[in-house]
Amino acid sequence: MTHDLIIVGGGIGGSALAAVMARAGRRVLLLEKSTAYEDRVRGEWIAPWGVTETKRTGLYDALVAAGGHHLTSHVTYDETRDPAAAEAGALPLGMFADGVVGPLCIRHPVHCQTLFDQAVLAGAEALRGVAVGAITLGASPSVAYVHEGREQVATAPLVVGAEGRQSQVRRAAGLTLHQDKPHHWFAGLLVDDVAGVDPLRQTIGTEGDFAFLTFPQGDGRVRVYGGWDLPAKTRFAGAEGPRRFLDAFRLRSAPHNEAIAAGTPAGPLFAYYNNSALAERPFAPGAVLIGDAAGWNDPILGLGLSITYRDVRIVSDILRATPDGAAPDFRPYEEERVERMRRLRLAAEMQATLDMEFGEDARNRRRRYHEGAAADPTLGLHGVAVLAGPEAVPADIFEPAHVARVVGA
Ligand SMILES: Cc1cc2nc3c(=O)[nH]c(=O)nc-3n(C[C@H](O)[C@H](O)[C@H](O)COP(=O)(O)OP(=O)(O)OC[C@H]3O[C@@H](n4cnc5c(N)ncnc54)[C@H](O)[C@@H]3O)c2cc1C
Repeated sequence: MTHDLIIVGGGIGGSALAAVMARAGRRVLLLEKSTAYEDRVRGEWIAPWGVTETKRTGLYDALVAAGGHHLTSHVTYDETRDPAAAEAGALPLGMFADGVVGPLCIRHPVHCQTLFDQAVLAGAEALRGVAVGAITLGASPSVAYVHEGREQVATAPLVVGAEGRQSQVRRAAGLTLHQDKPHHWFAGLLVDDVAGVDPLRQTIGTEGDFAFLTFPQGDGRVRVYGGWDLPAKTRFAGAEGPRRFLDAFRLRSAPHNEAIAAGTPAGPLFAYYNNSALAERPFAPGAVLIGDAAGWNDPILGLGLSITYRDVRIVSDILRATPDGAAPDFRPYEEERVERMRRLRLAAEMQATLDMEFGEDARNRRRRYHEGAAADPTLGLHGVAVLAGPEAVPADIFEPAHVARVVGA
């Protein structure tokens, strides 16, 4: 059978696009490798501007029905700050996107399954446990795959690469991925039985040789991340790694972390080195890339989901506006995405330099920054870009002069 669209990868981006396009009446084939979505420590926090994208794609209600949990305030702790003063300066998160009370948290496996189910409900042909083989692009695209032991070849005018960082479609399209150097190690763990933390408040902080982020998901469950220096690769390796990781949260400057450290690990601890990357283009004849397949932002900012939803919204708008039989024009998508990713890459560099560098110089830099931002809020505008979207702040925030103001020369 010929489809209108073959989507390789049924994670966040692939399943969301399949749902949106099937709802629009297109014949969608969605090919997902896994048979069950597992916790591989991927994104679980959607920024306010990303929540707006989930609304614009018509998927927000399904996420909330599946247990999506909004956060409403943010606290930045730091070894150079008094914890009580940090808490007194808690940032309300409901002011960054119209009608959005704050970021939305939802477990990645639940998130993927919810979107996959939406795609099926909307009429997409959605297959699990698929092994994708040869991908041919250009004027007559096709995808060979094996499903339930049967070899098949599907054809469609367009193949979407939505299979994450190691995209097969990207390789078949001959699009080079440009990756930045790794900046720090970053690990995540789901923690249960966390008593006494505000379930609506996210926190971040840096002390000594460790930086942390915590995102409550409700019912005593919190997704936590930690970052540390690149040379200490095996710091949290081994069977006792999760315990040592939680112990690292016990910090003088963030007393509430005691409750996190006393919690129970409820999933795997996976560590990744953090960097940003970008494909040279997000499309080629017969193919378009969305989400991580098209390049990712350093997860320090937690924006991969928001980026992916915006990709889905723009690509689906282009496809719906393309007359039958015509080739979609993805140039506006490329133009918007390249500038969006340029800005977010710089924002991530500033954040990583501030929060994920350690030692005396880094401590002094953070002290200068926090004191400076308290006196002049424009110093923290890259943080507004994270919450409200990279287009929501003046363009000069992403120029060298502002970067130098934030992190020094
Ligand atoms: C440690 C860490 C923390 C993060 N935290 C956040 C956060 O808090 N907030 C946020 O917004 N982002 C976060 N991110 C980023 C976010 O997880 C990703 O940007 C997002 O999941 C990308 O969605 P995607 O659909 O492109 O890829 P994925 O969600 O990775 O989905 C890809 C899918 O393709 C499937 N697949 C892979 N290969 C094939 C193949 N050959 N054939 C068929 N199917 C295939 C996979 O099984 C998977 O289901 C984090 C990333 C990391 C590494």
